[in-house]
Order: sequence, then structure tokens, then C-alpha cells
Amino acid sequence: MSLTIGVVRESAPGEHRVALVPETAKKFQALGAKLVLENTLGLESHFMDSTYEGATFDQEKSGIYRNSNLILRVAPPTPEEIAEMPEGSVLIGLLKPFEDKARLAALNARKITAFALELLPRISRAQSMDALSSQGSCAGYQCGLIAAARCTKFFPMLTTAAGTIRPARVLVVGAGVAGLQAIATCKRLGAMVEAYDVRAAAKEQIESLGAKFVDTGVSADGAGGYARELSAEEKAQQAEKLAKAVAMADVVITTAAIPGKKAPVIITVDMIKRMKYGAIIVDMAAESGGNCALTQPGEHVVANDVNIHGPLNLPSRMPTHASELYAKNLYNFLSPWIKDGQLAFDWSDEVVAGTLLCKDGATVHATVKQVLGDA
Ligand code: NAD
Repeated sequence: MSLTIGVVRESAPGEHRVALVPETAKKFQALGAKLVLENTLGLESHFMDSTYEGATFDQEKSGIYRNSNLILRVAPPTPEEIAEMPEGSVLIGLLKPFEDKARLAALNARKITAFALELLPRISRAQSMDALSSQGSCAGYQCGLIAAARCTKFFPMLTTAAGTIRPARVLVVGAGVAGLQAIATCKRLGAMVEAYDVRAAAKEQIESLGAKFVDTGVSADGAGGYARELSAEEKAQQAEKLAKAVAMADVVITTAAIPGKKAPVIITVDMIKRMKYGAIIVDMAAESGGNCALTQPGEHVVANDVNIHGPLNLPSRMPTHASELYAKNLYNFLSPWIKDGQLAFDWSDEVVAGTLLCKDGATVHATVKQVLGDA
């Protein structure tokens, strides 16, 4: 069957990104794919319909789904959208595989072949497809900017006629892709940055950005290069050592995450009570429960004159570049398997197999099955 790629406007509230940009649209067409797109598809990312040359546009989502056999998404489709997808079609996106068993059941009922980019193996060959990294960079950058904009102090040191201003002190907790980008952004703005992560490799990465590593003596490398959950003793040791750095900070940015699990609570109420008046916490982990005990997802909470921000969907705040990077990730994942307008995966390929969530009416990803049970 010849390949027709369908892309509709994202349905999640506040989602401004788009899964196909004009540059990748052209590349897919060069591989022989046809494109059916919803009118004003990329409007919120500032990609106008006229720039998707050679694509067919439709007003109705249902018509686009009916005529496609490969559907590109940013966020997961709604149950209504899944019901409209042709049986046996291929779906790829950031499908939040650990969150919703009913969604998996709906995909399996339609026998959708679903790839969740969150599951992509973190191996060198797959770096160009790594949507968690590309979107994590956007999120970390946004965190740094939010912190600087909300902070009532200058980030850089300033020497003025009225006297010298000391630079703001920023503490970044969690130095994965997003945390490192937050560090880099705050450094560029001139702040004094300290950072902490439980993975041993993070020390060198933090220091290479010119930030100071906070050593708590807790090291917790887990499987696949990720962090593991800490024991109660490790958590207590971490809290004791981190409390001092938190108390001295004007800004705390938290990005700590453990795949498939609720975010660890690292900034406790006690630590907040010891923070400077007017200090800021930007909790990037708000979406998965928060790294700060008082974070409210999507809200700004004030406690003891400390401002706690729990922003959601940060990459969507910079949809043009976030979409460009994400669309490239999708193209890099799919293009090796498209030849002369036909899509044919090698199911034994490590990257294909590792990212595959559902196939032939069943959930196939081992970790997802382990976490959610069979759907
Ligand atoms: P993530 O978003 O899953 O987590 C963010 C950070 O939180 C991680 O650095 C983690 O170590 C840290 N963390 C977890 N629990 C913590 C705690 N209690 N206290 C402090 N920090 C805590 O991470 P990520 O950005 O997706 O990166 C995870 C790993 O994957 C890293 O080792 C990274 O280098 C690696 N990676 C590899 C590739 C590749 O080779 N293709 C690409 C991207 C990332």
C-alpha cells in the first residue's frame, strides 16, 4: 500500500506544536509519500498552509484520518480520534505510554501500530530521533527564562554608578538534558549557578558548563543511563546536604525525573521555610507530580514568601523551534523505512522494537506492560 501521511491540528489544550513542518514535509514527499493535512495545521507554530508545498489540505479531521495510513502526532490522540483512525494504520508521537490504560485499549481495539517516542532507546544511533532530548532542551531553556523573568533580582553582576549588584544564585536540581539547558541558559544570563544530580556522570557535565557541582555523596545510577529511585536513607542524606544550597539560592530550578515513575519530591516544606524571602522555585517536574512538596501543576503558589511555579508543557511555549526539532526527530525515525513511497519496518531493529508500544491488537512494550498490565 502506498504511503499517505496524515497530520491534524493537535487536540490537547495549550498544545501549540505541530508534528510536520514544511522542511520535513518536503523530505517525506521526496521519499514518495503523499501528505494529507488539516487546514491551518501549523498556524500556531507560524508555519502557514502555503509553505507545505505539494500537500493536500482538508477541513475535516475524519477525512484526513480515513485517507492516511501513517499518522504523525505531538501529543496523544483523543478516544474519538482513535476511533476514526483506519484499522491497521501506524501512529507515532509522544503518546504518554505509562499514563492511560484506556488509551492503549482503544489503540489495540483499532489494531493501530503505535510508536511512543518516550520509549526510544537512548543509544547513540537514535540521538537524532530523540524527542525527549529535543523537547527537554526547549523546556530547560524556558525554565531558565521563566526564572529570570520572575526573579526580582538581576541575574548578572552589575557595576553601576550607584554601586555593585551581586549576581543571582541559581540552584538546578536534576542535570539531564533539560537541567543542563537550564544551567546553560542561567549562565548565559550571568547568574552564579550550582547544580546537583544523582548520576555520577552529571558532575563533569555540570562543571563543563561553568556551574558548581553540589556534592551530597548520594550516587544513584540506574538502568539504561537513567537515575534509580533513592532509598529512605539516601533521601535523608540528600535532603540534609541539599538544604544549605537551597537556603542560599535566589532561584531553584528542579527537573528531576525517573522514567515511568512519579517525580521524586526533593524540595521539602522545611527547606522552603529556610529559603530567602522572595526566592523562586520553577518546578519543571510539575507535570509528573513535582519535585517540590508544594508545587501545584500549572499554578503559581506562594508559601513563606517563596514563589513556586509549576509550569506545564514548556516546549509548547516556543512552538516554532520545538516543532522544527520534533518534526526532524520523526523524520529521522521514519525515513530509513520509507522507500519508493512504501513504509516497511524491520521489526527486529533495536530502535523500532524499543519504541513500539502496540501492534496487531496488543500492547507489546515489556516495561509498559509491567507498569500498566496488559491492555
Ligand atoms: P530525565 O528527564 O529522565 O531526568 C532528569 C534528571 O533527573 C536526570 O539527570 C536524573 O539523573 C535526575 N534525577 C532523578 N532523580 C533525582 C534525584 N532524586 N535527585 C537529583 N536528580 C535526580 O533525564 P534525561 O534528560 O532524559 O536523561 C537521562 C539519561 O539519558 C542521562 O544519562 C542522559 O545523558 C541520557 N541520554 C542519552 C542520550 C543518548 O545517548 N541518545 C540522549 C539523551 C539523554
